[in-house]
Amino acid sequence: MKKLFLFFMTFISIVAFGKNEKLYVGTNPEFYPFEYLEDGKIVGFDADLIEAIGQKLGKEIVWKNIAFDGLLPALQSKKIDVIIAGMTATEERKKFVNFSEPYFTSSQVIILNSENKESLDIKSYENLPNHSVGVVLGYTGDVAVSKVPNVNIQRFNGASEAIMALKAKKVQAVILDSEPAKNYVKNNKGLELISTDIAKEEYSIAVSKDNTQLAEEINKAYKELVDDGSYQELINKYFK
Ligand code: GLN
Repeated sequence: MKKLFLFFMTFISIVAFGKNEKLYVGTNPEFYPFEYLEDGKIVGFDADLIEAIGQKLGKEIVWKNIAFDGLLPALQSKKIDVIIAGMTATEERKKFVNFSEPYFTSSQVIILNSENKESLDIKSYENLPNHSVGVVLGYTGDVAVSKVPNVNIQRFNGASEAIMALKAKKVQAVILDSEPAKNYVKNNKGLELISTDIAKEEYSIAVSKDNTQLAEEINKAYKELVDDGSYQELINKYFK
């Protein structure tokens, strides 16, 4: 009888708290320190944040590793429920998905190779014309540089590839989000970072347009994590 009671209580708690519910989360783990692979596992600031949100919602996170430009299509076709990928909440993307409250402010910066003479006259976006500039396909850096006339844009599939081309002097600058950029500069001798005055960007979690309830739940859970200090702990863990 006791066993039956226990079984019944477990069943009730699973139903009541949705413990076995899954949240399919898409990301592209090439964006240190937000998401990257460690022993084949997706880790990083975004990973910790969505795990904490998942816990609040009583949902188990199931990761899907997807190319960055495949994330929005995957969300729209319901292969995933959520994107967390250092994704900037742009007006263009807002036409297709719902974004949560922003959780991180970033900007686009210029990375130079100080050993390449042809890089050295680049001091700001205004100096990009008549240079070959590496960006990652579909990133906001791509969108920003595409608006500057007379730039020879080279599009790469990932930030590491763009950085390799910069080191090999195949491009004279790379435009990338500030935090991953800082990390490449730290780990690659000769690379130099120039902060730009280009507008700040905000990273948000994306859910599909018709899933307004999930967006609200995520916002509520996020607010709780900010209020109880967990968000600040994550900032300290990854950025201090
Ligand atoms: N913030 C940039 C964007 O949204 C880059 C994101 C990323 O590479 N993960 O396009």
